[in-house]
Amino acid sequence: MSTVQPLRPLHELRSFSPETQFEILDALSRRSFELTLSPTEHCNFRCSYCYEDFAIGRMRPAVIAGVKKLLARKIPGLRRLRLSWFGGEPLLAANLCLDIAGYAMQLCTTHGVQLTGAVTTNGSLLDRALAGRFAALNHTQFQISLDGDQPYHDRVRLRADRSGSFNLITGNLLALRDTDLQFKITLRLHVSGDNQDSLRSLLRRLHGWFHGDRRFEIGFHPLNDLGSPNKDAYVPVSHEDYARRVRELQQEMPRELAAHDMICANGESVHVCYASKPNALFVRADGRVAKCTVALDERFNHLGRLNADGEVEISERLMHKWTVGLRTLDPIDLMCPLHKGREYFESQQDSAAAMPVESVFPPTGLADGDRPDA
Ligand code: SF4
Repeated sequence: MSTVQPLRPLHELRSFSPETQFEILDALSRRSFELTLSPTEHCNFRCSYCYEDFAIGRMRPAVIAGVKKLLARKIPGLRRLRLSWFGGEPLLAANLCLDIAGYAMQLCTTHGVQLTGAVTTNGSLLDRALAGRFAALNHTQFQISLDGDQPYHDRVRLRADRSGSFNLITGNLLALRDTDLQFKITLRLHVSGDNQDSLRSLLRRLHGWFHGDRRFEIGFHPLNDLGSPNKDAYVPVSHEDYARRVRELQQEMPRELAAHDMICANGESVHVCYASKPNALFVRADGRVAKCTVALDERFNHLGRLNADGEVEISERLMHKWTVGLRTLDPIDLMCPLHKGREYFESQQDSAAAMPVESVFPPTGLADGDRPDA
């Protein structure tokens, strides 16, 4: 039986950092929209921890047409549009990304809408020329994962031909460093149960390469058991162990590296996951609409479909479930609603998820997405 979540009083919004307050309010704004697209679910890597089955290939023409129609309908009413690209490896379909991004850019320019673009990529194809083409379309944010220094990384983050990927990824990073392109690359360092020494060595190397270049930043992320059949290559880390390991690394690492903890092991910042936001959708390559980019096989993660005419048909019940963090203001609900588990999502019973957002956030002045006073 599901328990009713206690609603947190509205004034508790003030307990979050100004950035988190803005994220929460922006998530409620009808004038902001975040669209995550998977242009292909194929990948040129075979990371040991990967949970994807690569069964769905490139986005079909009917889905591309639906995405463009959706953008054409929504953009005139927006202030902000965020386009995010996910895979598989999205840059295997770089021209498709650039085609949709260019279409969005044109509409955003016409209607005075702020466009930001972000690509989650394995970094293998991100050379200077491609980064420049994305940057020209306001796509300047990239997230690239590393698993440790070369020996460890090459053991777990394999290319499809089973060779290591460290030199390929870091070669592209160094080439980008040597340009004057404006971008922000977040290097996501995976923390497992057995890569602490390797991460120390990697941090020293990254410091040597990127020290003083504010276009590069570092974030940590736990390497859990994500359901991969090849998980013997690494030791998954528990939540407590992860927090301890990150604290150690943060104390030891050079101050000049702007490191932060992407899931808030130190409790200082709360990142609102796109899955928690009612104004964010993830469209998979086959046109299914989801919230979470990890739980790809879960039925409760499939809210509906994007049709070729740009209409989105989704389950409001599931949308309410995924956006529960906006009612509870529980940092864990906001950062990863998936943690609530299958029973919660499949339950038909009343809970905080069934309450309208307006019962916690009165509409006046709160859903306009403006930055609140600190
Ligand atoms: S790069 Fe990403 S999608 Fe490709 S195998 Fe690795 S984890 Fe999976």
